[in-house]
Amino acid sequence: MPELRQNFFTKEWVIIATERSKRPEELATKRETKKVASRVDACPFCPGNESKTPPHILCVPANPDIPWQVRVVPNKFAALSREVQPARNIHRSRRTIEGFGVHDVIVETPDHAQYMALMEEAHVAEVLRVYKSRFDALSHDSRIRHVTIFKNHGIDAGTSLEHPHSQLIATPVISHQVRERLKEALRHYDEFGDCMFCQLLDEELAEGVRVVATNEHFAAIEPFASPTPFCTYIVPRRHMAGFGDIGAAEVPSLARILRSILAKLYHGLGNPDFNYTIRSAPAESAGVKYFHWYLSIIPRLTRVAGFELGSGMFINTVLPEAAAEFLRNVKEDQVQGAAQA
Ligand SMILES: [Zn+2]
Ligand SMILES: [Zn+2]
Repeated sequence: MPELRQNFFTKEWVIIATERSKRPEELATKRETKKVASRVDACPFCPGNESKTPPHILCVPANPDIPWQVRVVPNKFAALSREVQPARNIHRSRRTIEGFGVHDVIVETPDHAQYMALMEEAHVAEVLRVYKSRFDALSHDSRIRHVTIFKNHGIDAGTSLEHPHSQLIATPVISHQVRERLKEALRHYDEFGDCMFCQLLDEELAEGVRVVATNEHFAAIEPFASPTPFCTYIVPRRHMAGFGDIGAAEVPSLARILRSILAKLYHGLGNPDFNYTIRSAPAESAGVKYFHWYLSIIPRLTRVAGFELGSGMFINTVLPEAAAEFLRNVKEDQVQGAAQA
């Protein structure tokens, strides 16, 4: 039977349409992954082409084999500008702010043909340390209210550049959606005296059916009201409001579980396009007891269509419990083997 489920964090409803349900493997990407070279002359992110991007903001230096490990550069086609002041204008019903903001590109590796799913954990940890460093630096800028770190992998996830990269956009406002989530979390905290994310994690770990993987510091789960197939949350097991609170010892743990989930998606579903994003409390809510950051991975296996646009509700054709079971069973040795290949 179809079932409507409510997202605990957002209170949004999702239709789990088991009538149309597909076995998880039927959703696997059929597209061939084409072979690409590890260096492409025309690519602005490849080593030797550093002059094709604006000068770097941050660069993790070389080890003996490679010219650099991770580079952060301003986006040449930035959505927002660092140069203007965020002055507000209100004229009758029309509100505007000068387009101030920061738009960074994080080039994850010099290797054009690499996938994060297949990188060494230590390298993923370097990328995460760079995220934290930029997140911390921008959180201290009084003009900035919110920092969003995200990755678009593949055409259906909105990227046109093949070279592995993530992005960061820092805005002078907090979006309505983020504000609503903060309010919902605060409402829950006031009513029940608990962080809703800690509560959800305790329940999911006790029940186990939607858990994909765990380690010392993190757990990966399929949300009960998952809006799309294989949407996966990686949640810190310790209460932390903001991504900037992650400790040095926790970064390698996050790298391990993130790479493992991406490898399971890569092998289990044929290198699907995906987005991931870090959902963190904004700097002004640093340290609060009611909000808890997490990383959300959204494989792009289905398309958003009229119903979703018109209602804000999603129809998901894969049971989250079935997705969790499928991902748990993508063999760990397969994951390990690919990493060494
Ligand atoms: Zn490249
Ligand atoms: Zn919590």
